[in-house]
Amino acid sequence: MKKDFYEILGISKNADAAEIKKAYRKSALKYHPDKNPGDKEAEENFKLAAEAYEVLSDPNKKAKYDQYGHQAFDGSGGFGGGHGGMNMDDIFSQFGDIFGGGFGGFGGGGGGPRRAKGSNLRIKVKLTLEEIANGVEKKVKVKRKVQAKGATYKTCTTCNGQGQVMRVTNTILGRMQSASTCPTCGGSGQILDKKPSEADAQGMVIEDETVSIKIPAGVVDGMQLKVSNKGNDAPGNSIPGDLIVAIEELEHEFLKREGENIHFDLYISFPEAVLGVSKDIEAINGKVRIKLEEGIQSGKILRLKGKGIPSINGYGSGDLLVHVNVWTPKTLNKEQKQFFENALNDDHFAPSPEKSEKSFFEKVKDMFS
Ligand SMILES: [Zn+2]
Repeated sequence: MKKDFYEILGISKNADAAEIKKAYRKSALKYHPDKNPGDKEAEENFKLAAEAYEVLSDPNKKAKYDQYGHQAFDGSGGFGGGHGGMNMDDIFSQFGDIFGGGFGGFGGGGGGPRRAKGSNLRIKVKLTLEEIANGVEKKVKVKRKVQAKGATYKTCTTCNGQGQVMRVTNTILGRMQSASTCPTCGGSGQILDKKPSEADAQGMVIEDETVSIKIPAGVVDGMQLKVSNKGNDAPGNSIPGDLIVAIEELEHEFLKREGENIHFDLYISFPEAVLGVSKDIEAINGKVRIKLEEGIQSGKILRLKGKGIPSINGYGSGDLLVHVNVWTPKTLNKEQKQFFENALNDDHFAPSPEKSEKSFFEKVKDMFS
């Protein structure tokens, strides 16, 4: 009995093209002959996975297989029934499209050694709302792996500097040829020649470095910036990895950010609401004076254009939205109480919202438009 193709790749029958590809990539890496030298079972699984992928990645073949199972391909051309439908060359020729450029060593045609790239470093940078609004240059200390002073490298003799080795094996299925990453140099084509005493086996040391990061205005919490070539270095003729900077936004004492807009809750007294008042608002870049006309209603939102956060794309800025709240006193003395008791019976104090007065919901709608 031949095993089910979906089972071989460990996926469900509903798997989409991306999942199929991913599952095959995983199997191929797991059972790759270079990783399992002399292991017949791994080799068999490697071939089965390739066969399964060949069918499931082709919509026509997949449809046939879904309908008729393995019988769909018995006796038909390309795919011979039973055992050994594909040889290793076919399998490796698939790899170009599965592994893309990132997977060195397979499928030939690479053209010279690939320069190894060091690993990325990650740091978190905490920013105030002011720093976010204006953009900022931050200096951070990172511990980078770099080539030690005095470390020299020479061409790897295992692969002659090519970074990969070809293996030819004779099997009952015929001659199998495969290219794989050179085990001596790890693909860089170079090995350590002179090792300074403080360096590790690859000639590397860890160094503190202060990196200056230019953070543009308008960044968002969770955003990641990349500083090229400020990650770890790799041995030999290589390029350093990148420094990945994750942005963390510190909460502001009284301003609340929402995208490019900033909200501020302004509290005024009842007399101020009645008589009108001018107030200084602590905006992002200093005070802004606003004038509240007499008779202003609690819940009114004043929009100060362009006083918010600049767009990360450089197209203008958001607004500062000032929410007016009328503060109601919680206790009153005798005279004050008398005043309000008189007002209670005065029709002049009865609410009479005008038609033009926007409802709360309309205001919210405006705010987000
Ligand atoms: Zn090598």
